[in-house]
Amino acid sequence: MLQVRNLDVFYGAVQIVRGVSLDVAEQEVVSIVGSNGAGKTTIINALSGLLAIRSGEVRFRGVEIKGLEPHKIVELGLVQVPEGRLIFPEMTVYENLLIGAYSKAARSHMEKNLEEAHSFFPVLLSRKNQAAGLLSGGEQQMLAIARSLMSMPKLLMLDEPSLGLAPLIVQEVFNIIDRIHDQGKGILLVEQNVYHALSISDKAYVIENGHVTMEGTGEELIDNKEIKTAYLGI
Ligand code: ATP
Repeated sequence: MLQVRNLDVFYGAVQIVRGVSLDVAEQEVVSIVGSNGAGKTTIINALSGLLAIRSGEVRFRGVEIKGLEPHKIVELGLVQVPEGRLIFPEMTVYENLLIGAYSKAARSHMEKNLEEAHSFFPVLLSRKNQAAGLLSGGEQQMLAIARSLMSMPKLLMLDEPSLGLAPLIVQEVFNIIDRIHDQGKGILLVEQNVYHALSISDKAYVIENGHVTMEGTGEELIDNKEIKTAYLGI
């Protein structure tokens, strides 16, 4: 579904992403893990069209998306849930959800998608008319995920969905990611919570200093000695 080849991304003169290649097949859960500043968010932002790609190829469902505007990439079904959630705190929960449905196709399926989002996240229905900024951190993360579901993704890219959440809520967020996957969507997950990410992943890539340094199935990487020492603290 997603094929990335030799991706290079720069901030000004500084190269952040160096020759990254990765694949996500239909309905796969794939993680990108690595330490702070390794370049994970930069990769996701480049795939979303938010950052320019210096060189490399990115094909999504057979279409070259390098250079496409972000909204076109969303319309193709590649949708990002940004780090830090970036909800609109002054707007209501309902209004935040509607923002996810801005494309023509998503607008025409809005009622059905709203129902689906509410079935995943009942709290968003009960708090429908409240300002989104009043939601707890975990609820805001749910809202950010629900907002992206409104744009009918085929592949959802989640950037650090567990960041800053209490352990119980982290578990809940990972359960929801699992359920979204069960509905037939692909997931590309960027996480610092390496154990959780690997345990739900079909495949994962370790990024260090902008490079892919290791790849394998979630299981293989959890059992890998270097991963255990560097990321799992065991
Ligand atoms: P984290 O888990 O901490 O978010 P990350 O792996 O997602 O880390 P990135 O956010 O992609 O890392 O950052 C990669 C590098 O790019 C870092 O060295 C960071 O300082 C640098 N960087 C990020 N944003 C910018 C920017 N707007 N301008 C210049 N450098 C940036």
